[in-house]
Amino acid sequence: MARIVMKFGGTSMAGMERIRNVAARVKHVVDQGNEVAVVVSAMAGETDRLVGFCKEASPLYDPAEYDVVVAAGEQVTSGLLAMTLKAMDVDARSWLGWQLPIRTVEAHAKARIESFETQALIAAMARGQVAVIPGFQGMMEDGRIATLGRGGSDTSAVAVAAAVKADRCDIYTDVDGVYTTDPRIVSRARKLDMITYEEMLELASVGSKVLQTRSVALAMKEKVRVQVLSSFDDPTQEDLPGTLIVGEEEIEGSGMENQLITGIAVDKNEAKVIVTRVPDRPGGVASIFGPLAEASINVDMIIQNDSKDREETDVTFTVPRSDLARSVDILEANKATIGFNRLITDVEVAKLSVVGVGMRSHAGVAATMFRTLADRGINIEAISTSEIKVSVLIDEDETELAVRVLHTAYGLDAEPAA
Ligand code: ASP
Ligand code: MG
Repeated sequence: MARIVMKFGGTSMAGMERIRNVAARVKHVVDQGNEVAVVVSAMAGETDRLVGFCKEASPLYDPAEYDVVVAAGEQVTSGLLAMTLKAMDVDARSWLGWQLPIRTVEAHAKARIESFETQALIAAMARGQVAVIPGFQGMMEDGRIATLGRGGSDTSAVAVAAAVKADRCDIYTDVDGVYTTDPRIVSRARKLDMITYEEMLELASVGSKVLQTRSVALAMKEKVRVQVLSSFDDPTQEDLPGTLIVGEEEIEGSGMENQLITGIAVDKNEAKVIVTRVPDRPGGVASIFGPLAEASINVDMIIQNDSKDREETDVTFTVPRSDLARSVDILEANKATIGFNRLITDVEVAKLSVVGVGMRSHAGVAATMFRTLADRGINIEAISTSEIKVSVLIDEDETELAVRVLHTAYGLDAEPAA
C-alpha cells in the first residue's frame, strides 16, 4: 500500500467522458489498496474563458475578485470528479482550498502556498475516502480565496504530496513523459525514464513546458518524487511508462547508464540587445543593468568584451521578448549616464540549452556543442553556462537544424523503429 497523489490537467478533465476516464484510473489505483488524493485542473480552456470575463467586466479588475472568478473552474471539476467516483462506488469527497485550508500569502492572482492543514485530509484518506482537491486555489489570511498563478495546479499537487508525505505524486498530462527534446522538432527524441529535479528545472525554465517551474522547485525542496505520465493510456494498464523526476542520488543508485546530456531545450522568447561603445570603467555595466533590474526586467545571457586599447566596449545581453520595447526605452532614457553610442536589437534569435548533471564530472560538453554547430555553419551569438547547462544564442531560422545535429552529437537519438 502506498499514499499517492494523482493530478489531472485540463485536457484530462475536458468533458464528462474524460472525467469518467480519470475516475476509472483513480478507481484502479484505489482498488490496488492505495490511499489516494486527487488534484484537478479546470477543464481545458475554462480558465482562459473566465479570465476573459474578468477583463470584460473591468480592464483594471480587482485581483481578489479575479481569484473568486477564476478559481471556479477547478471547483466545478473537483465536484464532478467526486460525483463520478461515487457513482462508481468509490468513496470520495471534494475539499476546496478554503476548507482544508491551504493557506496562501503574498498577492492575489499569484499567491504562494505557505502552509497546509492536513489532519482532516489524512484522516479521510486513511478511511479509504478519495480526497478530490481543486488545484490552483488556496485561502489568504483574511479568508478570501486566492489562486497561484497560471499553471498553478501542478504546484498544488506537489504541495499536497509534500503535506501528506505521499510516496509519489503522479502528474497525468497530455504528453506521456519528459523527452530529450521537443519530439515535434526531432522525430527521434526519446522519452526519459528518469530525470533529476535540477535538470527538469533547467529544461522547464528554458522552455519545455511540461510542468509549472514552481512545482518542480517545490518538489526538489520537499523531496517529492514526481512522475509525469499520460492520461490517455488505458486506465487499468499496469506498468505506466512515464518519466520519474527524482533526486540525483536515486538516479545514481538506479544502475542506469550515466548519460552525459539529458535533454536539449529551445527557447524562442528572448531578444538580443547590443549596447555599443560603452565606456570601459568601473560602474559601466552597473549603469546598464541597474535601471533594467529596477524595472524588474530579467536579463539572461550577458557578454562584455575586454577592451585593452579602446577604453570602450560593446555589451550584449538578452531579455524576454515581451520586455524588449521597455528595455530599449529605459536604456535610451539613461543614455547620458551609460554613455553608449548605439542600441542594436534582434528578436530573431533562439536560445538552445544542453542540460545534464553528467557534465559536472565530464569535460568537453561545450566544445562538442561549438564544434557541432560550427560544422553546420551555425554562428553562435552569445554563450552562457551553469554547472549543468550550456546555452547558446543562435539565429532563429537555424533552430531546427541545430537541435537535430546536437541531439545526434550527444547520442540522444532513439533507435529507429524496427
Ligand atoms: N486552471 C489553471 C490554469 O489554466 C491552473 C492549472 O490548470 O494549472 O492556469
Ligand atoms: Mg498545466
